[in-house]
Amino acid sequence: KSLHALDDSVPPSHRVQDRSKPASPMPTTMFHNAADTDPAIAANRAWGEGILARIPSSKLGNDTVARHTISTPAELEQVFLTATGSGASWRTMPAQKRAEILHRAGEILEARRADLMEVMASETGKTLDQSDPEVTEAIDFAHYYAEQAKKLERISGAEFVPAGLTVVTPPWNFPVAIPAGSTLAALAAGSPVIIKPAAQARRSGAVMVDALWEAGVPRDVLQLVNMGDRTLGSALVSDPRVDRVILTGGYETAELFRSLRHDLPLLAETSGKNAIIVTPSADLDLAVKDVVYSAFGHAGQKCSAASLVILVGSVATSQRFRNQLIDAVTSLTVGYPADATTQMGPLIEPAQGKLLSALTSVGAGESWLVEPTQLDDTAMLWSPGVREGVKAGSEFHLTEYFGPVLGIMTARTLEEAIKMVNMIDYGLTSGIHSLDADEVGMWLKHIEAGNLYVNRGTTGAIVQRQPFGGWKKSAVGAGTKAGGPNYLFGLGNWNIAPTVD
Ligand code: GLU
Repeated sequence: KSLHALDDSVPPSHRVQDRSKPASPMPTTMFHNAADTDPAIAANRAWGEGILARIPSSKLGNDTVARHTISTPAELEQVFLTATGSGASWRTMPAQKRAEILHRAGEILEARRADLMEVMASETGKTLDQSDPEVTEAIDFAHYYAEQAKKLERISGAEFVPAGLTVVTPPWNFPVAIPAGSTLAALAAGSPVIIKPAAQARRSGAVMVDALWEAGVPRDVLQLVNMGDRTLGSALVSDPRVDRVILTGGYETAELFRSLRHDLPLLAETSGKNAIIVTPSADLDLAVKDVVYSAFGHAGQKCSAASLVILVGSVATSQRFRNQLIDAVTSLTVGYPADATTQMGPLIEPAQGKLLSALTSVGAGESWLVEPTQLDDTAMLWSPGVREGVKAGSEFHLTEYFGPVLGIMTARTLEEAIKMVNMIDYGLTSGIHSLDADEVGMWLKHIEAGNLYVNRGTTGAIVQRQPFGGWKKSAVGAGTKAGGPNYLFGLGNWNIAPTVD
C-alpha cells in the first residue's frame, strides 16, 4: 500500500489545460460524424462547445454509435503471426527512440482531446467533467512511461528482456486512459501489443489506438482486435504465444483468465468495495464534497469509487454530516453528457441483478436517506441513492455494486471503523477524513488497501504522483502499480548478469 500525498494541488504539467484553444480539427480517425465534415463546426469554436457539437443529444442506449467487425479465428491467427514476427524490431529499437514515439503519442492524444471526449460520451455516457481528466491521464501515461523506458535500459547488473507479446484487455469504464496506460507501458517496455477493447467501448479504443499509430508505433507492433468475450476472447488470452496479459476488470474475469490458462502471467487490477472514514476531527465540508464526488462521479462506475462512508463518534450521532450529504446529493444534476451541466451520467446498461436490487430495496435495519429513482425509460438513468444503517457483515457492506448507491455505516471508534474496512475482501482504495495526525497514523498502519487517500476523495489517481493498484481481491497476479516507478519491471523478464570476479 502507499500513502498518497495530502496535497495533490500541484499536478503534472498536463493537468492544467488551455481552455481557450479551439476544438481539435476534423477527426483523422476512421470514424466520422456528419457534423464533422462541416469545417465550421471545428473552426472558431470555444473548446468545450466544439466537443458538445459532436455528442448526440438523443438518449444513449437506443443509438448506434459505430459498427465493428468481429475478428474471425483465421484473422486472429494472422494477428498472432504478425505480432510474434514484429517483436524483434521493436525490442531492439533503442529506448531513446521508443521514448520519442511515446512522447509524440502524448502530443497527439492532447491534440485529439475533443475526439476522445466525444467518443467516450457517445459510447459510455461519460460526462465531460470525467472525460476531460481521463484524456489527461492518458497523456500523462505516455510521457511518464516514455521516460521510464529510458531508465529501464540504464539499470545495471541485470538485463531486462521485454515480453515477447503482451495482450491488453481493458474495461469499458475508463475506455481511453486504461487501455492507453496498459498499452503504452507494454510498448515502453519493448513488447508488441494486441489490444482487445471492451465490447461496450470499441470505438474509444480504436480512436486511442489510431493516435498511437499516427505517433509512429508500427501497425504490426500494436494491433487491435474486436472479439466477443466468451469465444475468441478466450482464445486470445489462453494462447501460449502470449507472454503477458494486462487486465483491468472484475475479479471474476481474472479468475476466468486463470482458469483458461493457469500459468498465465497476469497483471490484473480488479474489483473494489471502497470506504471513506470520517472522524470528529475532520473538515466536514471537505469530507462531504469528497464523499459525493467519489461515490457518484461517473455514476459510481469506477473500481475506485467510494461505496461506503463510515461515520465515527459524534459525526455518527449528530445529524450535521447527514444533512449536508442530503443537500449535496440531491443537488447533483443528473443527465446525459450532451448537456455540459450534467454532473452524474447514465449507467452503461439498464440496471439489473444485484445493482438493480441495491437501487430498489434496502436490507434489514437499513433505510433510505436519499432514495434513488429511475429517471427515464432507459433504466440507465438513476438519481443517486444513499442508504442508512448498513451493518457490519451485511450484503451491502461487502458487495461491489458499480453504481450510484452509497451506504452509511457508523462506528464508535476509529479502531472499529478500520475493522469494518478490513472485513471487506477487496482492498483497492481507501480514504480517511481526519485532521488529527495520530488518527491518520493509526489508520495508515492498519488499513488494508492499495491506494490510501488522506483528506481527499478515493478516485482519480494521478500518474506518477499516485501509482494505482490493489491489495487482496483487488489485484490478481504480479501486481505492481500502474503509473508508478516499478510498473514496467513486470512487463518482461530479468536476466541476472553473471558476476565476474
Ligand atoms: N484509476 C482510476 C481512479 O483512480 C480507477 C480505475 C478503475 O476504475 O479501474 O479512479
